[in-house]
Amino acid sequence: MTNSRLLTVDEAVAAVLGRVQPSEPHFLPLPRAVGLVLAQGITADIDMPPFAKATMDGFAVRSGDFLVPGERRLQVVGMISAGQTSERAIEPGEGISIMTGAPLPAGADAVIRVERTRPDPLAANQVVINTSVAVPAGQFVLDRGREMRQGDVLLESGTIITPRMIGLIASAGRKAVRVHPRPSVAVVSTGDELVWLGRVPGPGQIRDSNGPMLNALVDSWAERSGAGRMLPSFPVPDQTDALTEALGAELQRYDVLIVTGGVSAGVKDLVPATLLALGVEPVFHKVAVKPGKPIWFGVGSPRISERPGVRPGTLVFGLPGNPAGAVVGFLLFVRPALDALAGRGSNPAPVEPARLGADFQHRGDRPTYHPVRVEGDRVFPLDWAGSADLRTVALADGFAAFASGDHDYLADDPVKLLRFP
Ligand code: AMP
Ligand code: MG
Repeated sequence: MTNSRLLTVDEAVAAVLGRVQPSEPHFLPLPRAVGLVLAQGITADIDMPPFAKATMDGFAVRSGDFLVPGERRLQVVGMISAGQTSERAIEPGEGISIMTGAPLPAGADAVIRVERTRPDPLAANQVVINTSVAVPAGQFVLDRGREMRQGDVLLESGTIITPRMIGLIASAGRKAVRVHPRPSVAVVSTGDELVWLGRVPGPGQIRDSNGPMLNALVDSWAERSGAGRMLPSFPVPDQTDALTEALGAELQRYDVLIVTGGVSAGVKDLVPATLLALGVEPVFHKVAVKPGKPIWFGVGSPRISERPGVRPGTLVFGLPGNPAGAVVGFLLFVRPALDALAGRGSNPAPVEPARLGADFQHRGDRPTYHPVRVEGDRVFPLDWAGSADLRTVALADGFAAFASGDHDYLADDPVKLLRFP
């Protein structure tokens, strides 16, 4: 751990990503795999469609019977619905009534839509067909293997599974797929002053905003309510015994542990020492960033798995108690780690180029993430009271990143934007 100088954001992100591997692949039932990353390629086990099939309701015919436009009669020798097959091949002058999705009978190579035909009132089992142009072979027929051939690679390993791909994988014959499972994440708020959601704070107390917020940030990352995660727990007081019990339990169970509060330099900031005593290897403490400087990061000892083998140690993020610092810490460090665990690649938080919509003075010795409103490619820095002011952050569209040092920026100056997900 470096203590002489604060790590830069880039160095700290690299230190986190350097310690994250994609989570070990599991087979998951197909319906639960959406949003996850494939850890196998998907190949077609059969041709699709498996047979030449009608794409319209009508009559399966021999196109050779319809080389010349005009009116003619067909002897109807049967009917095939989707799901059926026909033993009967059709001969010249014959047709079979066929429904969308049914396999073409032998001898037929085209379909004439039912709307182009009428029953012959004088002869049972005959239809009258009037064509204005010749019927081409293959009309309203989807050839066998037109969509995919047996053995075709449909999806590469590393693909993020969309709902449409669930359908494609199902049509390739799989009901479970190997994926990198979504990491399990626990959130623990710490602080003597914190009261549980909905309670009225007494003298000196404040409400826990970080617990519900960080849970929601994880949930919105997971795009569905976090399977395998605990619901927000009661805030844990600033006492070594209570912290040891709460954090020790989570270290056994979760891939990622997010703790907020108690990571600064006060006498009641007991989280780092507690984590060390629990065997978490410290990687860094404090980063040159505002807000969020006190952030702590470490890796727990390898866990004994229910399955044979050992699972990697829990990634532990100690985020500052000040809510805006917790948000910055989550976006810059936790989210990229969750992406890397889920096999979505190993990348820092995405920033985009933008321009200032108004003049702005930055003062300070740390790079600063300042909440902004975004209009098109213009960002407007908001009047913000600093790291304890969550209200401004909650109503902003993102953070603009300003370099350290005192600098007067002008409207139109380029700036980097970290948009809220
Ligand atoms: P700490 O990181 O524990 O030194 O806390 C820094 C500031 O954030 C203090 O003003 C705390 O009261 C406040 N704080 C700590 N935890 C939370 C929380 N879960 N929700 C809202 N504010 C918090
Ligand atoms: Mg505290």
